[in-house]
Amino acid sequence: MIILISFVLNTGVVGLTTALKLQEQGGYRVTIIAETLPSDPKNIRYTSPWAGAHHLDMDTFKVMWDLSAPGGGAEGCFLRLNQTEYYREEYTQPDPLEVMPDAKYISKDALIPGAAYGITFTTLTIDTPKYLNYLLSRFLASGGSITRGIVQHINQVIEGGATALSGGGPSHVDAVVVCTGLGARMLGGVEDKAMYPIRGQTVLLKAPWVKYGRTMVERDGLRTYTIPRRCGDVIVGGTIDKDDWYPTPRPEITKDILNRVLTLCPELAPPEIRAAREPKVEDLLPLILEEGCGLRPARAGGVRIEVEWFEDVRGKREVPVVHNYGHGGFGYQSSIGSAAVALDLLEAAFKEERQVLL
Ligand SMILES: Cc1cc2nc3c(=O)[nH]c(=O)nc-3n(C[C@H](O)[C@H](O)[C@H](O)COP(=O)(O)OP(=O)(O)OC[C@H]3O[C@@H](n4cnc5c(N)ncnc54)[C@H](O)[C@@H]3O)c2cc1C
Repeated sequence: MIILISFVLNTGVVGLTTALKLQEQGGYRVTIIAETLPSDPKNIRYTSPWAGAHHLDMDTFKVMWDLSAPGGGAEGCFLRLNQTEYYREEYTQPDPLEVMPDAKYISKDALIPGAAYGITFTTLTIDTPKYLNYLLSRFLASGGSITRGIVQHINQVIEGGATALSGGGPSHVDAVVVCTGLGARMLGGVEDKAMYPIRGQTVLLKAPWVKYGRTMVERDGLRTYTIPRRCGDVIVGGTIDKDDWYPTPRPEITKDILNRVLTLCPELAPPEIRAAREPKVEDLLPLILEEGCGLRPARAGGVRIEVEWFEDVRGKREVPVVHNYGHGGFGYQSSIGSAAVALDLLEAAFKEERQVLL
């Protein structure tokens, strides 16, 4: 078996899923170069730990549903639950969510005030920080390795590998996979100016009594949502602000989110309060674990998933670089499909003649 060494940048959900796919395929020795590890404190340059996350395409759903089964490979990362989606305005059926298990349209008389339409179904939510750690541990257990480092220019990896970045001598690299999310805008050699942020702000509450998810889709596409996690936390949101780079939570947005979610889901307030009186926003304040915001890595023109050949001048060769970034608000739901496409692209690139000496 030929052992090839490829590098994946970085430890977001896209990078980890891709690295795992390559490593488990066999035949590759994969190293991740990571600025941040999933267990590090959350920061604005690393979107994945901030995500909800719930909505999934069917391919990803099937894989995660199996992982979430009692006794399944990653049961603790997921919560299986009933989800209800309400819309402020009438929706033309069929709803794409009709394919979800137990999907049922809600009759007009059972809608909550202000909703024109609704659908309910069974799905799962992801405890995103936990799931990232699960992906990393499975990657390491299958023989992958990881080096911490910030890549200034892609040539640093092509010419020197991870060892050069960590202060050692150069090591041979056969391919690179770029999963740097929004960082693709700044990464030397890539500098993709089509990348832009869509900022999302959330609040994490401790409310273990809430075991179902609810979303209200407003007329302008803004979503108010509650996403319970297995551990009893509920992440509530949200906002969709294009080109907003602001790196910390804005207090006025937190207030607005809490107002909106309490209207959507009064059950967020502790049961003893609801038994005594109407809940108020102030009742949610003691439940706050964290206010957060993340920058969804969006790209004008959509996800970039393609091969670009880079010249290794000193090594007198060309090296395939697979780009896999720009997943916007869909990085979790498309992570498994994107990883499969990245693998196909890499294998096709290795079959080309041009990677041999120029
Ligand atoms: C509030 C919110 C809710 C969301 N809800 C959902 C949802 O329900 N479903 C869903 O599918 N998606 C959701 N998303 C979107 C999802 O989080 C993103 O699509 C996904 O996290 C993108 O992953 P990524 O791996 O591409 O990027 P990231 O997670 O940002 O990872 C990129 C990594 O690359 C590193 N990096 C960048 N440049 C360099 C460099 N030069 N050198 C070294 N390292 C570098 C960064 O530090 C970072 O660690 C949500 C996002 C937010 C903010």
